[in-house]
Amino acid sequence: MYDTLIIGAGMSGLAAGIRLAHFGQRVAILERHYTIGGLNSFYRLRGRNYDVGLHALTNITPKGAKRGPLARLLRQLRFSWDDFEISPQNGSQIVFPGAKLSFSNEFELMRSEVARQFPDQAGAFDKMVSQIVDYDDLTDEHQQLSARKVVSSYISEPLLVEMLFCPLMFYGSAREHDMDWGQFCIMFRSIFLEGLGRPFAGVRLILKLLVKRFRSLGGELKLRSGVKRIATDAAGDGTRHVVGVELEGGETIEARRVLSSAGWCETMRMCDDGEPVTSRASGQLSFCEAIATMDVPPSAFDYHQTITFFNDSPAFHWTKPTGEICDVRSGVICSPDNFGYDQPLGDEGTMRVTVLADQQRWMAMDEAAYRLAKHRWWDRIIESAVRFVPDFRARVIDTDMFTPGTIVRYTGHDNGAVYGAPDKQLDGTTHLDNLFVCGTDQGFVGIIGSIISGISMANMHCLRD
Ligand SMILES: Cc1cc2nc3c(=O)[nH]c(=O)nc-3n(C[C@H](O)[C@H](O)[C@H](O)COP(=O)(O)OP(=O)(O)OC[C@H]3O[C@@H](n4cnc5c(N)ncnc54)[C@H](O)[C@@H]3O)c2cc1C
Repeated sequence: MYDTLIIGAGMSGLAAGIRLAHFGQRVAILERHYTIGGLNSFYRLRGRNYDVGLHALTNITPKGAKRGPLARLLRQLRFSWDDFEISPQNGSQIVFPGAKLSFSNEFELMRSEVARQFPDQAGAFDKMVSQIVDYDDLTDEHQQLSARKVVSSYISEPLLVEMLFCPLMFYGSAREHDMDWGQFCIMFRSIFLEGLGRPFAGVRLILKLLVKRFRSLGGELKLRSGVKRIATDAAGDGTRHVVGVELEGGETIEARRVLSSAGWCETMRMCDDGEPVTSRASGQLSFCEAIATMDVPPSAFDYHQTITFFNDSPAFHWTKPTGEICDVRSGVICSPDNFGYDQPLGDEGTMRVTVLADQQRWMAMDEAAYRLAKHRWWDRIIESAVRFVPDFRARVIDTDMFTPGTIVRYTGHDNGAVYGAPDKQLDGTTHLDNLFVCGTDQGFVGIIGSIISGISMANMHCLRD
């Protein structure tokens, strides 16, 4: 009998596992895939290493900082800042027609950029920022507040409003058109007030550290162990409780509680108690990413930006594509080469361009049409991106393309929704008193966010007795 079974060996599941194993629990992580990491995995193709999700770690506070999610994560998982070998971003930008805001890990740059481009908004921007600094993460009253309404109550210049939403939505909004104010504050702090960084070795390093620590504490990691059913039984008082799980291969495992990072709807569908609790809407927002390997690093053509968030009109549209299967009007251009490493990543360079995509239409294609669409859309996505960064196409020596199908394959999320369902379960509880959710649908997204989610839910619900 396990104390806790964790569904999913993504960042949140691994972090939760470390906390529980550290306190002596008998804990196993059950992962459907043959590898760890979930959306933040990695792969090797034609002799080169690629990360699946990682553009940059958010929430990067300097070494020695006592506050903020990164400091909390290091304390709770007993790592040191140096273990993660994080190098800061060079600097990033938000580019809209006729306006550009640069930002770095020094918030003063962002403030001065707002004051330079939108002088009459500078005071209002500062007021909004002081409100964001005071925001408390785990109150759900802010879940109902429209961030667009709150931001527009401070800032009267629509272009600035759109420019602020673009990066925050791309890096963490499960909701179309708008965000809730709480999520806006979390994302604003993690990207603009704290900052971006990357380990030289990419996501592999983080995963290696997490798994090694989990196993060294006695935790068990079971790969190719997809959970088919969360088994419940009636207790003496008539209420139902989780008693264990059944794996896709038929094996049953008993446990005192289950913590699932599979997503809210996905977890509810596994429960065998027949409760009508699946009515919460699934997420709709998925991504395609075009990856270009070049024969030179981007610095060779004088491009040093870590991330460029672009949008080709004054209004930013955060919605599932309606006309075509990808929406190339806006996107994120990321170069893993452009961080402040002590040495270059290599002789080659990489540019990754992420855009919104319609999962249903990507998945409806047969194999031949899918392959053709990947080629066509790689061209279209890159063509859109080079309107905002130097045209690197002549330097490309290899390509790859990540589609919503990749997200489904790595995470099992409905609709390939990167950030899960629009409505989150901030306290992680479910209708069963020994089943909890962590990760994307608990509410903290991104790499650091999902690790914090795993830690918080393990502390709140699984270490009580
Ligand atoms: C293109 C792209 C770029 C991104 N860039 C960044 C970035 O730069 N920085 C950042 O911080 N974040 C980024 N993210 C987001 C980040 O990857 C996710 O927020 C994070 O990985 C979520 O972690 P998680 O543990 O909650 O869930 P997941 O990674 O979804 O893990 C869930 C795990 O559960 C497993 N699972 C599901 N169902 C079952 C089942 N029935 N049985 C067993 N196992 C199951 C899945 O296989 C998976 O391993 C990016 C995402 C994408 C798509």
